[in-house]
Amino acid sequence: MAQREAMRDSATRPRTRAGGRRSRAASGQADCQSATGCQPAPHKTASIIGAVWAFAVLLALPLLASDTIKLRSGGKTIDLPIERYVAAVVAGEGGVLKSPAARQALAIAARSYAVRMRGRHSADGYDFCDTTHCQRADLAAITPAIEAAAAQTARQLLWYNGSVAYTPYSRDCGGRTEDAAALWPEQAAPYLRSQLDPYCVRAGSLKWQWTADPVKTAAALLRAGLRTPARLENIALTERTPSGRARTLVLSGSGESLRVSAGSFHAAVGREIGWNTVQSERYEVRGLTFQGTGSGHGIGLCQRGADQMGAEGHSYRDILGFYYPGTAVGATSRGISWQRLGGDSITLMTTQPDRDGEVLALAQTLLTALSRRTGWPAPPGIEIRAYPTLDAFRDATGEPGWVAAHTDGRRVHLQPVSLLRARGALESVLRHELLHLLMEAQAAPNLPLWFREGLVEQLNRGNAAAGSDTPADSALRQTADAKEARRAYAQASAAVQTLVQRYGEGTVLGWVRTGLPAEVTKASASQPATKSK
Ligand SMILES: [Zn+2]
Ligand SMILES: [Zn+2]
Ligand SMILES: [Zn+2]
Repeated sequence: MAQREAMRDSATRPRTRAGGRRSRAASGQADCQSATGCQPAPHKTASIIGAVWAFAVLLALPLLASDTIKLRSGGKTIDLPIERYVAAVVAGEGGVLKSPAARQALAIAARSYAVRMRGRHSADGYDFCDTTHCQRADLAAITPAIEAAAAQTARQLLWYNGSVAYTPYSRDCGGRTEDAAALWPEQAAPYLRSQLDPYCVRAGSLKWQWTADPVKTAAALLRAGLRTPARLENIALTERTPSGRARTLVLSGSGESLRVSAGSFHAAVGREIGWNTVQSERYEVRGLTFQGTGSGHGIGLCQRGADQMGAEGHSYRDILGFYYPGTAVGATSRGISWQRLGGDSITLMTTQPDRDGEVLALAQTLLTALSRRTGWPAPPGIEIRAYPTLDAFRDATGEPGWVAAHTDGRRVHLQPVSLLRARGALESVLRHELLHLLMEAQAAPNLPLWFREGLVEQLNRGNAAAGSDTPADSALRQTADAKEARRAYAQASAAVQTLVQRYGEGTVLGWVRTGLPAEVTKASASQPATKSK
């Protein structure tokens, strides 16, 4: 049995999904037909709230194959289909890769980055620039092999705990990857910790050496707004990150010593003198001479190592699993680690207990109040699942984005609490689903769908205009057309309102247990909506 509640779909776009989701959708329908299921119920909303919702939903929706990226390139903004953008990034960032598996792994990392970071330059009117600030993208360098890597992994993303993972990568980690926490604390993640990389070592990590010219280097530092001794005589490495990379340097000369972050030093020298000077933070420095290994920041996927893994027969899944441990590859969300919060009669499953915890208290309060009003006792074992992302919700329930919640048995699946709250819909959605739970625990087996949905809406909101038509089950059940669903639900609610006016709420509530009286069944059976098949 499935009870659902619908939301406006003004913001959501129809999505085509991979096979996994379709089969889930199909099984959801089977639930519904095999028992006494009911379907999307529309909630009327003020358009201003709809607009806020639209924003929130767009933020939460992953990209689709049909979506486009606004790329800033050569002074122009161009719209690129996502897979074209992915190919351009594999060409721009991974042109040296030889193994198909490494190209495929990079394509998934590049796509995940695009989905997660989309709109990085939204203030400037586009999504991404084509430099390493975002991802280097080079349309002219796309080869058939690169195009194939994008196509073979089309729509696949890297997931962690139900959300798209943050997927940095660099050229060559030199034998040990860096912890994201060391460079970008806000991007720290369990799958971005420092680890040994035997693969790039086996492939022969880059070894480089560079001696700083004191005059040019001091000038570069000054142009970058950094302080430097007038006469640069010595550079000392005084602090390292946990992976052993340089964190802080002390520049000395002319009797003074100045601290500078290794990252700022690297950026200033790279921009002003060239990127073939200091190539990574993995170095020793003596006097003014740097000796280092690797190239790039070293966080996440190491391209040299990935290429070696591919050459040794590993798949792109192996490569992604090695460089982003604990993540999962898929077209839809993967790997939610639930935490259980226990209440008196409701259990809340969440990935963010701090944030979603108050939903449990709210649901308890609502359940008690609704049970008192209807006289229906709360069944044991109610579970509410608050999904971390819209995509995770849709993947688990097979529902379109305009459906806010979904109940099967005693389990309520909720869209992310933050989204429902942003739309001002959280309480109403919870009430709707809890009313279904209370009702279904007593409902007569032949209670019609329109009556169940109409009564829930009446009890939840009341005051619908009265009406006499009852919607067809098929109109309530379908999930293809949000407008039709809203119309059908409004009709069901109006039909129940008419019954409440004629017979009184107490009598109508009693019919949940006894079934509808013959006079009501006959009247609704003669309605045009049910007749037209
Ligand atoms: Zn419903
Ligand atoms: Zn950028
Ligand atoms: Zn490496």
